[in-house]
Amino acid sequence: MRPFVLALTLFVAAGAAFAQAEPVALIGVHVVHVENGRIERSQTVILRDGRIQAIQPESQALAAGPLRRVDARGLYLTPGLWDMHTHAHRAGRERWHYPMYIANGVVGIRDAATHLGSGMAFRAKGPPAGPAPRVIWGSPALDRAPPALASGLAVETPEAGRQLVRLLAGLGYDFIKVYDGLSPENYQAIAEEAKRVGIPVEGHTPLTLSPTDVARAGQRTIEHLTLVLEACIPGALDWIKVDPSADSMGLMADGRLAASLDRFDAAACQAQSRVLAEAGVWQVPTLVQTRGYFVVAHDDPADEPRLAFVPPETRAEWLAHVRDGKTAERRNGAKVFERQSRLVGELHRAGVGILAGTDASDEAWVFPGSALHDELALLVDAGLSPLDALRTATLNPARYRARGRPLAPLIAPGSDADLVLLHENPLEDIQRVRDIRGVVAAGHWYSPEDLAAMVAGVRGSWPRD
Ligand SMILES: [Zn+2]
Repeated sequence: MRPFVLALTLFVAAGAAFAQAEPVALIGVHVVHVENGRIERSQTVILRDGRIQAIQPESQALAAGPLRRVDARGLYLTPGLWDMHTHAHRAGRERWHYPMYIANGVVGIRDAATHLGSGMAFRAKGPPAGPAPRVIWGSPALDRAPPALASGLAVETPEAGRQLVRLLAGLGYDFIKVYDGLSPENYQAIAEEAKRVGIPVEGHTPLTLSPTDVARAGQRTIEHLTLVLEACIPGALDWIKVDPSADSMGLMADGRLAASLDRFDAAACQAQSRVLAEAGVWQVPTLVQTRGYFVVAHDDPADEPRLAFVPPETRAEWLAHVRDGKTAERRNGAKVFERQSRLVGELHRAGVGILAGTDASDEAWVFPGSALHDELALLVDAGLSPLDALRTATLNPARYRARGRPLAPLIAPGSDADLVLLHENPLEDIQRVRDIRGVVAAGHWYSPEDLAAMVAGVRGSWPRD
């Protein structure tokens, strides 16, 4: 059995543990089909054993038997949302993150790397009691020696890279995470071994390579647009390559990139987009993370009401990040962010697949759960339609998970009961994903009262300040 198949089996088993939920009928709801943008009005959607059992016109009588009836008339039902870039399992962070995900309609997450020990201990123990998203597990990041992240693993030789790929695949991770500092030789060894073992490679573009290099090597995602904008600026990859201290965030701040944006080469960029689209490499731009780092969305940051749902220590760090940030770095970063945002629209129009991800961890101004709504709004600002933005958190994650296998419609009999009930039609205005009137996660129905209690529980879980 290939290691990733084992991981997938664990994943299904975790879902099955929830199969005891009581059957539910969502009565009179407008079903949003993200596959084609069609809205099927006034339907009753019946959920049983973690799946959608039936969809029938509201006028049709319900079959006899115990069934919880939810009046959903006039509301809109979308597939549950996925946040495709988080770090939710460090230092007990899931106790904060999990309720905030579910309360905001995020029924699945991709953990884009955690500490080896704590990630494994968490998985051995199983999710905490209570609401939990489905999880795709990324390995600790493979990087240079010493690794840039405390959780990273150093790869000093190609053979070390191959050994680590086999080890991590055997531990059941869903993908191998690669990072900024890998040398071309070590990266190549990792990519080849992963292909041989049957586990995908996902992550940053190493700074000694280019996005088209990693696409051609079969990498499945590029996070944070690493080097995707840089590759459109003649010569930029050459000076990045020779700077051993470079990291992808520092590049945005240090001014060289901001100063060279006027040399952006549209033709070179289009050629790159064609390669990325052809290779099917997903972009996970995490615009909300970059914005949080360089651009604060408020005149007075302390006025952000969502801060109440951030642990006091983390809240203090975020406010200090704004207070102490260097003006020049922020100006440079904001300029690059603005260009990256437009690039996301260009990539999308060129047929490059986009996945919504936030980097929710303790990153400044990335609110677990609702940051995904921020990301969808930023994707619309970048040029996606509301439907296409919604797809980046629903249909595209499903396509990513299907790995080329045929995909059933997300809201259809037999599909997973992972759903969000919205007050108004999100295809008219993406901001409406924030107005949630109920969530179904792995077949469990959470009413607005349940969701309110969930977030109140988060707020009450740390000392008063
Ligand atoms: Zn990350």
